[in-house]
Amino acid sequence: MAGEPLVLIVEDEPAQREVLAYNIRAEGYAVMAAGAGDEALVMVRETPPDVIVLDWMLPNVSGIEVCRQLKASDETRKIPVIMLSARSEEVDRVRGLETGADDYVVKPYSVAELLARLRTQLRRTRPASVGEHLTFEDILLDMEEHRVYRAGQQVSLGPTEFRLLTAFMERPGRVWSREQLLDRVWGRDIYVDSRTVDVHVGRLRKALKAAHGEGDPIRTVRGAGYALG
Ligand code: CA
Repeated sequence: MAGEPLVLIVEDEPAQREVLAYNIRAEGYAVMAAGAGDEALVMVRETPPDVIVLDWMLPNVSGIEVCRQLKASDETRKIPVIMLSARSEEVDRVRGLETGADDYVVKPYSVAELLARLRTQLRRTRPASVGEHLTFEDILLDMEEHRVYRAGQQVSLGPTEFRLLTAFMERPGRVWSREQLLDRVWGRDIYVDSRTVDVHVGRLRKALKAAHGEGDPIRTVRGAGYALG
């Protein structure tokens, strides 16, 4: 399935990494995993995840250092980081947050608790994935009912157009390249010609226009891609 949030797990102990990956996948998220800090930094640059679960104690490059580097770069600063640590002292908690970590979970933790923290972070970066309603101008996207309305009228969309609109509505104003839309809507491992994106954006526009709303909400950005609003 394409379009689900991508979670990066950074944990050097294979057994813990496997358990985490299993549980996070079971929640319906996509997972990639790294066993070392430097490996994680490379992965984040190649395939930016929607949230990172980062172990504090890692060999070579520590979790704190990974977090510091991620938060020091404009490209990766906004990716939420949840730090995991066996250290429970308050001073370490403060240190963890000072590095820019968005949340902090102490081991041993319950999987349910970690998943709740994940959802909290995803509510900010991927609101549609946690079952919220999204609105933009006269468009309402109801994730629970899987329906779209424009100016109060239901819009009939195919599954690809629905995922496309979801991506646009999660980040109004963001300019998406065709490649970024392919990754998000079609999936990272699937080869689809980038002109396919144009075809589906065309269909989405047509469907939205048929609902008699206010004009065309999707903007073509020459040489860059598409944006909502
Ligand atoms: Ca560790």
